[in-house]
Formats: sequence, structure tokens, C-alpha cells
Amino acid sequence: SIPLSFFAGIGGASRQGVLVKGSNYLETLAEVDTVVFDKTGTLTKGVFEVSAIHTDKLDADQLLHLAAHVERYSTHPIAESLRAAFGHEADGCSVEQVEEIPGQGIRAMVNGRQVHVGNEKLMETIGASWHECSHGLPGTTIHVALDGEYAGHIIIADVLKEHAKEAITALKKNGIRQTVMLTGDAMKVADKVAADLQLDTVYSQLLPQDKVAKVEELLAAQKTGKLAFVGDGINDAPVLSRADVGIAMGAMGSDAAIEAADIVLMDDDPLKISIAQRVARKTLRIVK
Ligand code: ADP
Ligand code: MG
Repeated sequence: SIPLSFFAGIGGASRQGVLVKGSNYLETLAEVDTVVFDKTGTLTKGVFEVSAIHTDKLDADQLLHLAAHVERYSTHPIAESLRAAFGHEADGCSVEQVEEIPGQGIRAMVNGRQVHVGNEKLMETIGASWHECSHGLPGTTIHVALDGEYAGHIIIADVLKEHAKEAITALKKNGIRQTVMLTGDAMKVADKVAADLQLDTVYSQLLPQDKVAKVEELLAAQKTGKLAFVGDGINDAPVLSRADVGIAMGAMGSDAAIEAADIVLMDDDPLKISIAQRVARKTLRIVK
């Protein structure tokens, strides 16, 4: 039977906006010494602003228009941001055969023409000769190809969540041994976020399956402590289930991530991880 104080612990966590799906997860959370984070939507807001557009074909407006159309049905934070930057309902065009390529981007037929929107990997996959004119701007470069030919790129930038820095500091104060970030984004963006937050380790340009492999590697290296993974996206579901404790963002997170998680942060605030861990440890001290 489950000791009564566990119910108090789960109740205490829920009053802080932390949904714990079972008393065993409180126990595991208390023993976590490694916290692995996804970047976009987890440590950063996942709301991108367009900072520059560079075109080889078409003009800047047309490039953004095409990208917004291809992204019409995607729930990826980048898709939502490109649609918002375009500013209008992406209507009037026929968009067919939409295919999202996890960790790379998306493709579709727009008015009968093949359009690809995504990162360098995607451009390399289709053999489009991409280049970059970022002029040292911070941000993620989203490339666009039209009928397999390189058309240009859009530079978009995200910002850290309000409490991201505080969240990492608080975890260190709890005695967390190791903080890690895994991302599909480019190295320059990933390294900047990791430096700003003083994370211990960062791995960039990972495909969803690479994230699973990294977490398995980190799990194998754990001695006594447990490993938590914190994520928000559809692609994070496999990693959330693999970790000792999976923590998902509840407000903006995908249904798949919320479903796969053991703990859900109702308000997407990463600072709540350290708060939940303190509740868990207090509960354990009462029980033991
Ligand atoms: P993260 O690990 O930061 O959460 P993802 O694994 O979801 O990011 O995506 C990794 C990269 O793949 C993005 O930085 C972007 O370059 C590209 N990408 C993924 N989905 C899309 C999309 N719908 N539109 C454009 N680019 C995308
Ligand atoms: Mg993500």
C-alpha cells in the first residue's frame, strides 16, 4: 500500500502546478542527479521572430509566403512562428502531400510545385546547394528549396524562458550533478544557449533517434543517481519514456509528450523542476 504522505506529496506538487502521475515518480525524482533538457520549447520559449531573409530566387515576401504555406498544418514551434511572421491566413494556395521530416523540416506540394523548408540536413538530403548569409546574426537558419533548387533562407531567433537561468541555478543548489541539453538545432545556437545557462554539456544537430541514443548512453553512465529528461515535442515522447523520469511541458507541449511523461509542468516553467524535487525529497524523508 502507498503511505499517506505520498498523497500529501502529490497534492503539494499539484498546488505548485506540477502534475505527478504516480507516487513512484516522486521517489525517483528525489534521487535524480542528472537532468537532460530539450532546447526549443523547454529552455527557450519556442516563439521565433524573423530577423533576416536572404533570397536567391523569388523575393523575401514570396519566400516567407511559401514557407508559411508548407507549414500550414505543422504544430512545430518553427511552423507556428513562420505562419505568425507571414501574418495572414495561409490560404488561396493548394497544399498537398505534406510530409514532416523529424529533426529536419517539412515538405509539401504548393500549387503543384515541390517545396522543402528546413535545416542544412534537409537541403543535403534533397541535393539543394544551400549557403548561408547570416552575417553573424544569432538564430536558426531555415532554408527553402523550390522544385529541388535552393531558393533562400529565413533567419529566426528564439529567446530563453524567463526562469531558465534560475531553473538551472536552483537544480545545482539541489545538488544536481549534471545538466545536459540535447537539440536538433545548429551548434552555434545550441552553444550560445548552453553558455548563457551554464549547462554542463550540450549536444546539437541531433535527430530524434540520436536523442534517444544519447539518453541511453547517459543512463548507462549513471552510478547511483537517477536521470530526468525534460521535453515538449512530439519527437520527445520516446526519450521521455526512456528516462528514469520524463517531465513534459503541459501548456504548450504536444499531446504525445504529455502522454509519455511521468510528470507534467502545467505552466511550462522549468523552475518547477527544482521545486518538485524539494517536495519529493521532503515527502521521502517523512516516509522513511
Ligand atoms: P529541438 O531539438 O530544438 O527541439 P527539433 O528536433 O524539433 O528541435 O528540430 C530540429 C531542427 O529541424 C530545427 O532546428 C529546424 O532546423 C528543423 N525543423 C524541424 N521541424 C521543422 C519545421 N516544421 N519547419 C522547419 N524546420 C524544422
Ligand atoms: Mg523540441
